[in-house]
Amino acid sequence: MRRLIATFGTAMSKASRIDGKAMAAELSAQVTSETAALLEDHGLVPGLAVVITGEDPASQVYVRNKKRTAEACGFHSVQHTLATDVSQEDVLALIDRLNNDMDIHGILVQLPLPAHLDEQVVTQAISPAKDVDGFHYVNIGKLTSGNTGDAFIPCTPAGCMLMIEKHLGKDLSGKHAVVIGRSNIVGKPMASLLLQQNATVTVTHSRTSDLPAVVREADIVVAAVGRPNMVRGDWIKPGAVVIDVGINRIEVTENGEQKFKLTGDIAYDEVCAVAAAATPVPGGVGPMTIVMLMANTLRAARLSAGLESA
Ligand code: NAD
Repeated sequence: MRRLIATFGTAMSKASRIDGKAMAAELSAQVTSETAALLEDHGLVPGLAVVITGEDPASQVYVRNKKRTAEACGFHSVQHTLATDVSQEDVLALIDRLNNDMDIHGILVQLPLPAHLDEQVVTQAISPAKDVDGFHYVNIGKLTSGNTGDAFIPCTPAGCMLMIEKHLGKDLSGKHAVVIGRSNIVGKPMASLLLQQNATVTVTHSRTSDLPAVVREADIVVAAVGRPNMVRGDWIKPGAVVIDVGINRIEVTENGEQKFKLTGDIAYDEVCAVAAAATPVPGGVGPMTIVMLMANTLRAARLSAGLESA
């Protein structure tokens, strides 16, 4: 009996695990069936082109996963692998060709780029109508001004929003959200999306003073920093929903053996003892990011054919 109570007590104090893998699988099935319908009804196959430069091992893994998921969804999937020393002129010429390729509806240039390439020039060369990563200034402007009808929303924050919605619903009125990190890829668009759903939003970063005190006020925490286990359990307001975007590769010793392990920005077990719900790493935000890219590409194809209006 005592054992049962102890087990029950643990279960009661545990936050629910927001299963990004399961949510992504469900969404992916939806994208696959809508893709099949698009082909049957309109003879249209969404096309995704992924451009990768250099040898960054993490980028290679991300690109492989994106290609595999695109194919599984029934997309036309193309990968362009460019040498580390490719000239900016050649990258821009390729983007220009893809912008004008009728079979390609989404273009993604995997970041980071080698140092000699200008990330802004390259990402801004992608046509806003094919910018399925949502990094073009046109799409950023639409998101920031709340005109998201035909905008592409960056995939990671879009996936985070679905996970938050699952627990708190669409309307976040009265909720205080704290975003940790102010990058253009995650932190800033995340803040715009939360604001659009009526949350009161605080964006924090490396120059924020007394970060734990700010986070303690939050009903929703989104951590996008890149520092393993930075957000501790005692930073969390009881009942908060915590989304961990961070992906950190750390070295651990298991049975006397040195291994690499992926971990997020939150100290997951500590946070789960206080929060209402939290995302794990791996298996949280990562899989959602990939499937949101597929959803954006399907939408780009539909928009290109006038099958969806703004
Ligand atoms: P970034 O390096 O561009 O930005 C990090 C942000 O963290 C900066 O705004 C910085 O001010 C802030 N920061 C740094 N130290 C801090 C501190 N001590 N306290 C508070 N804020 C601090 O990184 P990014 O591209 O936004 O990515 C963040 C993390 O998310 C990384 O681990 C990245 O790998 C991961 N990521 C995951 C996915 C996914 O699909 N799961 C997608 C994108 C990024």
